[in-house]
Amino acid sequence: MQSGGLCPPLPSMYQPCKYRLYPFPNQERELLRQLEELRFLWNYALEHRQEAWRKKARSISYVGQCRDLARWRAYDKEGIGRVYGHVAQETLARLGDAFGHFFRRVKEGGRPGFPRFKREVTSLCYPDSNGSAAIVPGRNGTRRLRLSMIGEIPIKVHRAPPEGRVKTCTIQRDGDRWFAVLTLEVPDPSLPPATPPVSPVGVDLGLSHLATLSTGEVVEPPKFLRRAEDRLTRAQRVVSRRKRGSHNREKAKVRLTRCHAKVRDQRRDFAHKLTTGWAKSHDLIAFEDMDLRSHMEGAFPKSTADAGWGMLRQMSQYKEARRSGRYVEVPTKNTTQSCSACGRLHDPPLTLPDRTYECRCGLVMDRDLNAARNVLARALRAVPGGTGESTPVEIGPPPHRKGRRVRSEKQEPPRGTGVAT
Ligand SMILES: [Zn+2]
Repeated sequence: MQSGGLCPPLPSMYQPCKYRLYPFPNQERELLRQLEELRFLWNYALEHRQEAWRKKARSISYVGQCRDLARWRAYDKEGIGRVYGHVAQETLARLGDAFGHFFRRVKEGGRPGFPRFKREVTSLCYPDSNGSAAIVPGRNGTRRLRLSMIGEIPIKVHRAPPEGRVKTCTIQRDGDRWFAVLTLEVPDPSLPPATPPVSPVGVDLGLSHLATLSTGEVVEPPKFLRRAEDRLTRAQRVVSRRKRGSHNREKAKVRLTRCHAKVRDQRRDFAHKLTTGWAKSHDLIAFEDMDLRSHMEGAFPKSTADAGWGMLRQMSQYKEARRSGRYVEVPTKNTTQSCSACGRLHDPPLTLPDRTYECRCGLVMDRDLNAARNVLARALRAVPGGTGESTPVEIGPPPHRKGRRVRSEKQEPPRGTGVAT
């Protein structure tokens, strides 16, 4: 993975750490200007690819566009020329990825989703920060984030980052707040021992209950979004009442984005606390391997998004990995329908309103609890030292990322680093 080393690369994983930035007004202006340049670059490069395809049926590669970028930068010295070179290249790399995904989806026969022109770019990434992004000491014990071509921005390092090399640094704009996500390359935690898990748990994620654990514990959904909905509707209404292009409309927009940001923060905070608790008390955690996308398009997309299932699984995965625990995903099929005591399928099939599972073997149980027990049983069959000998489904070594770059903005970065510890 690393360049220039003669010895084989040590096993390592990437750990994102998110910190708040407090740019000075001139720095904020510069950041906004650079984001605008990157937006322009994205749209220009996208158009370039489309044109080449339309006129000459020729496809342009990332490498080809990087060569062009050098010319564009030399030509537009005051514009894209003032954005750090690797940051600009990273935008082209993202575009290349977007095309890669597009072609893959075409091949798989899914809905392709052609890369789109952007109205707004909210993050910029220093992809391989060889000193181009680094935390340096500031005055009076404060810290600064030094960014090439931008300067030293005050940063709040609320928790010391773990030892490791800074791999990438992404600057994110979230309404009127700024964040830096540093991705550190840290050594792999040791793999889980080949002994049976001591305190395994299966989790059934749902809507009426956010999570039901095989231990019988039930977590109610926090419903932040629902509760905040009135507030959001009101803020949205104020925006649409203000005159287009007016100062007051801008102010109302800021209030609206803050409202959204608050919901996001609450949701993440809740998920962190929940998953940290799980990782602390269970050395194996099992979820269903369900397709979240189909759920999002399903009957209750809003409640599903609110429940934040993806976030719970993703956080559980890396928190277990850090503690050398196991994270397992098991096939979804019939987890609800089969009896966790005798394995018989429910006949007739259980429907959504049925809250209780009753089996001919005498088992009477809450339906979600029954599902959670099934999830756990399947997971135990899949791990070494478990109860069965079938092949492992997906045992969670740490989220290992191969390839040149790390997509820190695509995963939900933890707010701090040591939340799990
Ligand atoms: Zn039964």
